[in-house]
Amino acid sequence: MAFTVAIDGPAAAGKGTIARAVADHFGFAYLDTGLLYRAVGQRMLDGEDPVAAAEALRAEDLDHPDLRGAEAAQAASKVAAIPEVRAALLDFQRAFSRRLGGAVLDGRDIGTVICPEAEAKLYVTASDETRAARRHKELVANGREIGFDEVLAELRERDARDSARATAPLKPAEDAVMIDTSDMTIEQAFVAAITAISQRMP
Ligand code: C5P
Repeated sequence: MAFTVAIDGPAAAGKGTIARAVADHFGFAYLDTGLLYRAVGQRMLDGEDPVAAAEALRAEDLDHPDLRGAEAAQAASKVAAIPEVRAALLDFQRAFSRRLGGAVLDGRDIGTVICPEAEAKLYVTASDETRAARRHKELVANGREIGFDEVLAELRERDARDSARATAPLKPAEDAVMIDTSDMTIEQAFVAAITAISQRMP
């Protein structure tokens, strides 16, 4: 059986955590599509043409140690605005979404462009301050010296670019279930996601 769960939303809203937990719970495969754009962004930072990099993306590019950093995130959101980059990454994501046994994909355009036919769609969001506070805590725990205001400004800049671009902008699909995690624990967000997805199961 193919069953696709599409999870979209802005940076640091909790998509990845929810998507991983949902995939574990249902025994589905999981794809972090942001990592594809981060890998292309990193190759651009390394001096390559982003379109050529996207067309030649290899599995090992996803293991680059710097992909989780703020620099790769900003580069990702720049290359993500290039239509040819998005086109080059489309087939892989679509094929992944229809694999037998179920799939969870998280990103910005999964429910709107990559998998408009997804059986279940979630849009996970949270206030800017909550998202920045979570990301700041994570970065400090990893030994980074960075102020809260800088993290907040970076998130806002990236969200603005992701929402304003002409191709596949960040926005909820019309039939997405909205989950605002601002005042939720991880457990509560997980339960909300599982409940919404279960309702769409045959
Ligand atoms: O989700 P993550 O923060 O890793 O995504 C990094 C960037 O990649 C986003 O800011 C966005 O510009 C881009 N992206 C995208 N479409 C996706 C996933 C990520 O445009 N499906």
